[in-house]
Amino acid sequence: MSTAYHDQLIEIRRRLHQNPEEGWSEFTTTAFIVQTLRGYGYEVLCGRKVVNPDFCLGRDMKVVQAGIERARQNGVAEELLAEMQELTGCVAVLDTGRPGPTLALRFDIDCVPVTESTDPSHLPAKLGFISKNPGLMHACGHDAHTSLGLAVAHWVMDNKDKLSGRIKILFQPAEEGVRGAAGMAASGIVDDADYFLGAHCAMSAKSGELATNLYGYLCTTKLDVTIHGKPAHAGACPQDGRNALAAAANAVVQMLGISRHSGGMTRINIGQLIAGEGRNVIPSKAVLKLEVRGETGEINNYMVEQVHNICEGVSKSFGVTYKAEKMGEAVDLNADQELVDILNTAGSEVEGITVVDKPLNFGGSEDATILARRVQSHGGKAAFFLWGSNRPSGHHTASFDICESDLDKALEVWTHIIPKILK
Ligand SMILES: [Zn+2]
Repeated sequence: MSTAYHDQLIEIRRRLHQNPEEGWSEFTTTAFIVQTLRGYGYEVLCGRKVVNPDFCLGRDMKVVQAGIERARQNGVAEELLAEMQELTGCVAVLDTGRPGPTLALRFDIDCVPVTESTDPSHLPAKLGFISKNPGLMHACGHDAHTSLGLAVAHWVMDNKDKLSGRIKILFQPAEEGVRGAAGMAASGIVDDADYFLGAHCAMSAKSGELATNLYGYLCTTKLDVTIHGKPAHAGACPQDGRNALAAAANAVVQMLGISRHSGGMTRINIGQLIAGEGRNVIPSKAVLKLEVRGETGEINNYMVEQVHNICEGVSKSFGVTYKAEKMGEAVDLNADQELVDILNTAGSEVEGITVVDKPLNFGGSEDATILARRVQSHGGKAAFFLWGSNRPSGHHTASFDICESDLDKALEVWTHIIPKILK
């Protein structure tokens, strides 16, 4: 692997690490990606061409506007911001001009709301590329993902004469909270893809490992439930009120009592309940923020259905109304063997890489699964893998970091995968 790619991998990763942006606010990040890709000679699509705003989950317009403002301060051109249409993320497209399949690759670009460690034992602090945005940090390695995606794009452009078919390289916003993929999928951008691949750094894979046989992607649905009641004077005429707080509290107790499922494991957490106006007013509004998870899509749907049933039940008994809004979603993934075989072969060809093809528990949720399922539903094939990296502390913690030298190996793996598909 030439040092050109090595230098850009490290330089871009550190640059992004310093400028983390949370989901749906990644305007400075997207602008940098778009300009870099155009510099390589790509056609780059953004805005509504790659994200359907009607299907965006958990997109807070205050966060969006703050991101646009930050981009202006960072000197992003108005023209480029207009092209983004208040939507982050972009897709690079390259047609080799030779007949062949269409391959879609996905890299996620957002950060986590974590305050980064300033301890000198934390490498970004020691080397001076710690987060400049307070309360935000690339604590899941998506800075590395984006840097890798750009290096892959660069390599593909340099080697396009040896490839056939078409490639689409997706830079997806708002992976955290599994919010971004649904909007991208609904834009139709992967509907012509014959193959779909995504990857994550580290997790349960150590430096030098390539994990290709993952199971246990937790299907999940994140919901905000708003209950509307009716205010009334608590002393004079309580009977005229409809108590949203009481309805919500009842709903919480019932939700925690949802029966387990014999088909596989389930989870539910009601992480927040905000209700009421004041001591002597019958509470007219309550908001519950909750999530359910299930081992399979079917079991997750079972949990969602029970939550809806409970909301309906308390609506009836307390005389309130409710609205449940989906804030995030991920499904499970059944990787196609044809692609898993390609991943295993590619991994075995790269020096310093050990292919781990024994079943490995992914143990989290990942919304690339939404894009994968979209491709599979059109008859395409999909897979997801982990490229390993030793990390001093877990994902989403203040001193999370990856081992930067693993980026070179990950890029080399990609350069062995792509020609096996676009041959
Ligand atoms: Zn992540």
